[in-house]
Amino acid sequence: MIIAQVIVDVPAKQVNQTFDYLVPDKFHDILEIGMRVIVPFGPRKVMGFVINITNDSKFKRLRKIIDVLDLTPVLTDEMIELGKWVAEHTLSYYITAYQAMLPQVLKAAYKKEIVRLTEDELIPELEVLFAGRDVINFDEITKANIPYRLVQKAIQAGDIYINYIVQSKATKKYITMVRPILEDYQLMEALEDLPKNAKKQRVIIEHFINQSEPLSQKELIKRYSTSYSTIKQLKQKGLIETYQQEIYRHPYDDKAFTKTYPLPLTEQQKKAIQPIKQIIHKEEHKVVLLHGVTGSGKTEIYLQAIQDVLNNGKEAIVLVPEISLTPQMVKRFKGRFGESVAVFHSALSAGEKYDEWRKIYRGEVKVVVGARSAVFAPFENIGIIIIDEEHEVTYKQEDQPRYHARDVAIERGLYHQCPVILGSATPTLESYARALKGVYQLAVLDKRTNNQAMPEVKIVDMRQELHAGNRTMFSRLLKLKIEEALKRKQQIILLLNRRGFSTFVMCRDCGQVNECPHCDIALTYHKSSHRLKCHYCSYEEPMPIVCPACQSEYIRYFGTGTERVEEALTKLIPEARIIRMDVDTTRRKGAHERLLERFRNYEADILLGTQMIAKGLDFENVTLVGVLTADSMLHLPDFRSSEKTFQLLTQVSGRAGRHELPGEVIIQTYTPEHYSIQLASQYDYVQFFNIEMRLRRQFQYPPYVFISLITVSHPDHLTAINITEEIVQYLSKHLAPQTSVLGPTPSPIMRIKDRYRYQCMIKYKKERHLKEIINMAIRPFEDQMNQDELQIIIDMQPYQFM
Ligand code: ADP
Ligand code: ZN
Ligand code: ZN
Repeated sequence: MIIAQVIVDVPAKQVNQTFDYLVPDKFHDILEIGMRVIVPFGPRKVMGFVINITNDSKFKRLRKIIDVLDLTPVLTDEMIELGKWVAEHTLSYYITAYQAMLPQVLKAAYKKEIVRLTEDELIPELEVLFAGRDVINFDEITKANIPYRLVQKAIQAGDIYINYIVQSKATKKYITMVRPILEDYQLMEALEDLPKNAKKQRVIIEHFINQSEPLSQKELIKRYSTSYSTIKQLKQKGLIETYQQEIYRHPYDDKAFTKTYPLPLTEQQKKAIQPIKQIIHKEEHKVVLLHGVTGSGKTEIYLQAIQDVLNNGKEAIVLVPEISLTPQMVKRFKGRFGESVAVFHSALSAGEKYDEWRKIYRGEVKVVVGARSAVFAPFENIGIIIIDEEHEVTYKQEDQPRYHARDVAIERGLYHQCPVILGSATPTLESYARALKGVYQLAVLDKRTNNQAMPEVKIVDMRQELHAGNRTMFSRLLKLKIEEALKRKQQIILLLNRRGFSTFVMCRDCGQVNECPHCDIALTYHKSSHRLKCHYCSYEEPMPIVCPACQSEYIRYFGTGTERVEEALTKLIPEARIIRMDVDTTRRKGAHERLLERFRNYEADILLGTQMIAKGLDFENVTLVGVLTADSMLHLPDFRSSEKTFQLLTQVSGRAGRHELPGEVIIQTYTPEHYSIQLASQYDYVQFFNIEMRLRRQFQYPPYVFISLITVSHPDHLTAINITEEIVQYLSKHLAPQTSVLGPTPSPIMRIKDRYRYQCMIKYKKERHLKEIINMAIRPFEDQMNQDELQIIIDMQPYQFM
């Protein structure tokens, strides 16, 4: 008796365990751990992952596996363990964790087809089935009762391949290739035999006499203006053959990257890379925090460390924030490692992502560069994991499973006994504190590689501007500096720190602000469509002509959206050519890159945008960076708001003067005395760290304590409060006396999509059984969560408190 233990695709608490299934005879030989199967579950058929195969079960009367979806496993042994770890650490379901680790295409039971890869004779069963076709439906195999074992063999031999069909789009692409079958002299003889008027056939044969490299049928037809029938005739004569070659959809054209070579390292870089190389050499697991100012050559260190890893025959994972996964970044890795690099990008289509995943899985690439989820790249012999800009919040997934890529990286680093490198100019307080304690190793780069000074930062007090009668959003100094830069034909980046800021509509007579009817948040005015939109749900309405409350006509919009800044800037400096970059102008695929490319080609003087322009960009001609509203983020209800402000200002300042030309930065603010603004302008990370740590200790925030957050939401206000209260009660009773359990507190945005939201915050130093206790606290509400509108979200390590 063979039994498979399966995690089924039913995300529910009661189902969050393995189920035993009997493996029918026909699957005995082929089923392996890590494959996906279809199993009966209640009255349904569901997908599941086989995570163990055994010989007995404590259950009687087992049901049978209906179908096996893969003929090669999609989860490695490490991944199976990692998925359990992720689920347990984030209090998510196992199935959700496994699905987060795989590309979209493998998350569901897609239709399959079988593609013939060879012209050679297949086994008779398959040959009969294909009957001259190149692609057949997988169902035909099942119908014809051909043993899967035979199919699996043919796959292993590379004769056929299984293709998952994603929606209407083929997951894989094939092209027909043509190659000669005979030797050169034989082809020459054949050429003699060909009738003189068979010109088209002759040119093709002539082509192959000079070179036997295969060429795509399409290219051949194009190049020699021939046709399919010509190729068919030559095939029939036995001179050439055609075959299907799988091609990967190329999001990047590898040939477009110029090869780069390791730079001789500066003294600083040598000192920083040395301990990393040692860890690689000793094959140990250690975390290194690489604290290096912008432009100090961190990326070059990554590249050279990876080279060592590749020389050892191992693989590398590089995580970068989605936002800085720019063509520039990709170019640096492709330029050094060429085709060994796979790129994971949210802009890739499901099919393209699957292509990249498969290259990793089959060991065709050795380096993966990607955003958060690339931490799950299915390499089996990892030699280094690098997290660039480790302070970025995008490394935390804000959806189940709520994992942090840093934690997963460290877990994998342990498994593979390899270093994990965290790089940043502004490390999180957590990481820096760990480095000071010796939990992580610290490496420092405090100078730019070109020894250029960091650009000078001037702080402008906007209150004084107002007193001086300047009501615009541009200080006199910034205006002057922009004009000077324009005269010198240099470029400018203007950042509108928009988080927590928007263009809202207010009646000047009665003060009424237009709010979303479903969420406790002001609607945002969008000039291009002249409509009001809610940024938390999809609600929108036309811009009212009169105040809905008092009918006054004096209704207008306030605040500073990028559109308004652009308008004001055009008025102020009409000759400036502006590129605006925000969510509205970058919605379409590739728009982000196109805008940056235009700026790089000097098709504009000013790049105006939100946070998305702050990072990773490197423009030679930019000498001025202006921050319009530095403090808009400082007053968010988030204990990390000072840290985030410091990080953003430091990052954006690093954009200026990266090359020959010296840079300058102007920060406009209403709170010039704030330490995060002052210290960012002095590039003093260590001092910032010291002050911020003192405050964190005083108010008991991480890294002095850990925080977990439970958010309860329900359409009924009172229900939301009461359930939160019950959870708080339970936790207070069962957690340590030193632990504080706060709540019920309304979430900063108390209502979203007509649901009331309440929080319970747990601050603790040591709680050995926290997860179990939280689970117990939630248990009484499980039924209600399944049947009712109740939602309880647990975030073991929150980065968002809204
Ligand atoms: P960071 O990643 O720390 O911001 P980069 O790796 O982008 O820094 O380096 C900044 C610039 O310095 C890049 O243009 C890079 O090519 C260059 N650079 C890095 N290391 C060296 C070196 N050893 N010698 C010369 N130039 C270097
Ligand atoms: Zn809304
Ligand atoms: Zn009014």
